[in-house]
Amino acid sequence: MVSKVLVLGGNFGGLTASLALHHELKGDADIKVISASDHFLFNPSLIWLPFGKRKASDITFPLAPTFDRHGIDFIHEEVVSMDCLKKEVRTSNGNYSYDYLVIATGYRNNFNVIEGLGPDGFAYTITTLKDAMQAGEGWRKFLNDPGNIVIGATQGAGCFGAAYEYLFNTAHQLRKAGLKKQVKLTFVSPEPFLGHFGIGGLPHGESLLKMFFKKEGIEAVVDTGMERVEKNMLTLSDGRKIDFKYAMIIPPFVGQDFVKRTNEIADEKGYVIVRDTYQSQKYDDVYCVGVAAQVPVPWHTSNPVGIPKTGFPTEKMAHVAAKNIASSIKGESLTSHEAFGDIPAVCVMDAGNNGVIMFADKMLPPRKHGILIPGPQAHSMKLAFEKYFMWKAKHGYVSLP
Ligand SMILES: Cc1cc2nc3c(=O)[nH]c(=O)nc-3n(C[C@H](O)[C@H](O)[C@H](O)COP(=O)(O)OP(=O)(O)OC[C@H]3O[C@@H](n4cnc5c(N)ncnc54)[C@H](O)[C@@H]3O)c2cc1C
Repeated sequence: MVSKVLVLGGNFGGLTASLALHHELKGDADIKVISASDHFLFNPSLIWLPFGKRKASDITFPLAPTFDRHGIDFIHEEVVSMDCLKKEVRTSNGNYSYDYLVIATGYRNNFNVIEGLGPDGFAYTITTLKDAMQAGEGWRKFLNDPGNIVIGATQGAGCFGAAYEYLFNTAHQLRKAGLKKQVKLTFVSPEPFLGHFGIGGLPHGESLLKMFFKKEGIEAVVDTGMERVEKNMLTLSDGRKIDFKYAMIIPPFVGQDFVKRTNEIADEKGYVIVRDTYQSQKYDDVYCVGVAAQVPVPWHTSNPVGIPKTGFPTEKMAHVAAKNIASSIKGESLTSHEAFGDIPAVCVMDAGNNGVIMFADKMLPPRKHGILIPGPQAHSMKLAFEKYFMWKAKHGYVSLP
């Protein structure tokens, strides 16, 4: 009998896992992808959307044609619950049973971390398409009535790369608008030092960022929590206040609610507890990849600092899961293992017309090698990578690097 594989989520993790499995098994499985969104979103380009450098249509594509081309069923529905004992997933529209399940449902913003965040709050964020579009409306208003700017991340956030990228892109846009001298730009972060990035930092990262901050005239307030955001005012945990006309603050991420509610597979944040095979700790036939998977934070800092589960490790996890599901279906033992911390770190931090390319042999310390290469080539690389990745994902060429 043909095995039934259900993949929940159709972005970096779900798209890669489903197509990789399809290729591993040469079509010899019934693979269905269920996703709440019917479009792929290239989240790394959300940093450019508020400045009008990208439109939604530049960084998204419809998922159905991609899956159709590869013979994978695509179901545009939202999962509302699942039962790992009955091996069943319920959506807004019906029930689906499975032999193997891959959870790749990513993140939700946790706006409850402090008062004053979220759609009814006083600071923008850029972590979803809708958020980034609102941040863009705010930016256009700001240009007509400029003042000081705060950019940063709350305690518990992990997506620091996006905060830094938005900061430097803002500085670049201010210069283009002739506003650089009159706007005070402040960066606020729970990281213990500049350039920690939620991965413990890389050699010379702190000094490089300090140099960037000095050159751009940006004030840094690190190793701090936030208390609340009010109209035009951010209050830090120690009572300090920073006024602003425009603020972009990255909140912590959490997993989806339906995952959190499911048969004890998740932690208190709704992240699935996984092994290095990306099987859930509790059920051999339930896998989880990408942001939805739990990665324990290996350090203690005075303010909680999350770990960025970026695109490259998400793809890696998806390939490991696909290989193991294929082995299991073929009756072979599971041979693919890769702990999150051992996956190489490959990232580009964009700074508008400049940037930093980052490589390290491992996502998390202890590492043997780590290097940061600053310069305008980083910006060109990010532009080229966006085009390449969108092409690769749209065509389903997930075995390409
Ligand atoms: C602003 C920003 C900038 C970033 N920049 C970079 C970068 O420069 N480089 C990099 O490598 N990474 C970057 N990342 C991280 C990268 O976007 C993530 O690693 C990636 O999105 C993780 O993919 P995922 O598939 O795990 O989750 P997601 O991308 O969150 O996808 C989750 C999918 O699950 C679906 N879903 C959610 N809930 C349900 C449900 N109940 N039922 C069905 N489907 C559901 C969603 O619709 C979506 O399709 C950035 C992220 C952000 C937010």
